[in-house]
Amino acid sequence: MKTYELMAPCHFGLESVTKKEIYELGYEISDVRDGRVSFIGDAEAIARANIFIRSAERILLKVGEFRAESYEELFQGTRALPLEEFIPEDGSFWVTKASSINSKLYSPRDIQSVMKKAMVDRLGRIYHRSWFEEHGAKYPFRVSLYKDQLTLALDTSGESLHKRGYRLKAGKAPITETLAASLLLLSGWRAELPLIDPMCGSGTFLIEAAMLAAGIAPGADRAFTAEGWSNLVPRKHWNEAVTEANEQIDRAILAGGAGRVLDIQGYDIDPAMLPVCRENAERAGVGKLIHFQLRELAKLSHSGRGGYLITNPPYGERIEDRRNLPLLYTELREAWEGLDHWKLYLITAYEDAQRYLGRADKNRKIYNGMMKTYFYSYGIRPRQEKK
Ligand code: SAH
Repeated sequence: MKTYELMAPCHFGLESVTKKEIYELGYEISDVRDGRVSFIGDAEAIARANIFIRSAERILLKVGEFRAESYEELFQGTRALPLEEFIPEDGSFWVTKASSINSKLYSPRDIQSVMKKAMVDRLGRIYHRSWFEEHGAKYPFRVSLYKDQLTLALDTSGESLHKRGYRLKAGKAPITETLAASLLLLSGWRAELPLIDPMCGSGTFLIEAAMLAAGIAPGADRAFTAEGWSNLVPRKHWNEAVTEANEQIDRAILAGGAGRVLDIQGYDIDPAMLPVCRENAERAGVGKLIHFQLRELAKLSHSGRGGYLITNPPYGERIEDRRNLPLLYTELREAWEGLDHWKLYLITAYEDAQRYLGRADKNRKIYNGMMKTYFYSYGIRPRQEKK
């Protein structure tokens, strides 16, 4: 079967998580760079990667790469690629996004229009026509230029993969579903252990955790652009991937079977967040697996020995909120220390977090969009009596 190079853009700093997910799906990694993991896969891999990978933003199908320092080179380089192997005669094709870093060509609009002309030129000669109606399936291209080296790829996903379909409402500063899943995977949490997000907002960490525990594939319930590509990905691959996803669901966990009941809990101080969490969890199919409750951080408690706290506390988005941060982060430390042998994981943009939480065992820099954040890990500590 024909293989392709597929590329999975992911969060900067979390490439190792995406790499592991791809490897576990059964594919060979071909390249890892900042914010992107590439791998080798066939048509079936396009369907499976979109449906199963939790940490990537989308799945791209590489069409080719070449150097382009001028618009003439851009035109010729594009025209030399075997576009007809990807775009059928009735296909609708365009460059939907162009990004450029340290390169001579940088205007997205100019790159888009030159490449479209070159594509029409090539496909026109191959299909013997001077214009295209483009009423068939959509084939959106993405272009990235890095040091004048251009990579052209088709976007197989369409809407970003963090849009699983369950989060219709969120609070002020929600974490994306892909980032929440990545951090959970990185934390090493396992379904046997209790998990609490004491400042859970719209519940993203917990919903992702419950889906992970119950084996619910992140993309089983949404559509992808490449589903329209009957020339590249036969329908049966999508059907088979959905069947595989259904078979992976742990019915015993979903039913809350004896001895296998999950302990996943979310608290927030804001009463408006509770119905949001519950509706989102319900929509994700994990409504019964998570216990949400109105509770302030200072009242956190759990009788179990060993567990995970994972959270995304406020970091003072507005100046007036920053005043409260020392107290809040101190409360978080006390809440964690009040638990027996629990680990604490948090992602925050607050630069002074360690001043109030103590020195983290691990500190990883992660870009959340353009914002620099830190993911701090604190290993187990014996319980401390509250002062
Ligand atoms: N990760 C969440 C967003 C968290 S935003 C998501 O994806 O939606 C931080 C949350 O902390 C807010 O919902 C806020 O209401 C809550 N919060 C702030 N102070 C708190 C406190 N003292 N106790 C409990 N929750 C608090």
